[in-house]
Amino acid sequence: QTGIDDVKGFVVYDERMRDKFIEETEIIRSFDEAMEKNEFQIYLQPQHYIQMKDKVLSAEALVRWIKADGTIIYPNSFIPAFEKNGFIAKLDRHIMELTCKFINTHIEEAWCRDIRIAVNVSKIDLEYEHFLEYYIDTKNKYNIPDGAIEIEFTESAVFEDYNTFKNIMEKLQQSGFSCALDDFGAGSSSLNLLKELPVDVIKMDRLFFKESNNRQRDNSVITSVVAMAKGLGMKIVAEGIEDDERVKFLREIGCDVIQGFIYSKPLSVNNFIDYVSGYMNKLEQY
Ligand code: C2E
Ligand code: MG
Ligand code: MG
Ligand code: MG
Repeated sequence: QTGIDDVKGFVVYDERMRDKFIEETEIIRSFDEAMEKNEFQIYLQPQHYIQMKDKVLSAEALVRWIKADGTIIYPNSFIPAFEKNGFIAKLDRHIMELTCKFINTHIEEAWCRDIRIAVNVSKIDLEYEHFLEYYIDTKNKYNIPDGAIEIEFTESAVFEDYNTFKNIMEKLQQSGFSCALDDFGAGSSSLNLLKELPVDVIKMDRLFFKESNNRQRDNSVITSVVAMAKGLGMKIVAEGIEDDERVKFLREIGCDVIQGFIYSKPLSVNNFIDYVSGYMNKLEQY
């Protein structure tokens, strides 16, 4: 259901379409003001290294729009609008900036010394001026060590324009970024091209782990994907894990990292600091 019927050249909007349209224009109108008021913030979701005593060595930065009254708006309700009008590129740069500031502020603290934080990049961002220069300059401006920032590209974007992304990823890697392929398995990868792609990390989409009536079949697919990533020398992250049975299974088959509600939801930066530093102390007591 698109909400638009294109009948012989006439475009017919129905009510739902009109509401959606109004909502979108409102979202777009409030962008500049929200930026000025610093309403776009990062939440950090811990990534647990399940082959290494569940250590937290990295996290993903996820945007949250926090209104003056404290209401939190989640990315799925505004990112599509910003992708349509191009604001997403500004927003993603803002998220990169916040992430670098965060690392720069805490880098001397024990829990932060080896941290890696992933930021999401939309395919639209590449069309915006000086994409590479911006990311590289920002990394340098905040003295971010090599390996501390990971850039996530979605599988669907990458395989739509393979050569462009391959080239961008190579340059990012040369500049000390790590590259991840996000939402792997949700779109369509060419496995043949995957082996040539300079990615450090594959993030298996939540879809692999959704409830089904045949876990045995799910598990054979999951096992193959993990084995493939390992064989290609890539780190494998399982996203959206909510139950213990899955953790146990993923550990057995050699999956490196879990990012999921079973451990933690995305946390405000202060809660994240408490979480990782607390976790570190707990591990040291073993
Ligand atoms: P993503 O990049 O695949 O991020 C993972 C999403 O899965 C996050 O949703 C996270 O909260 C959610 N998640 C993680 N573990 C679990 C789990 O165990 N159960 C469930 N139900 N969900 C889990 P979030 O933060 O709502 O973000 C949704 C999407 O919005 C992201 O998917 C990403 O595509 C996009 N996004 C978020 N922040 C940014 C950003 O700064 N820039 C861009 N371009 N896109 C972003
Ligand atoms: Mg992501
Ligand atoms: Mg994902
Ligand atoms: Mg996703």
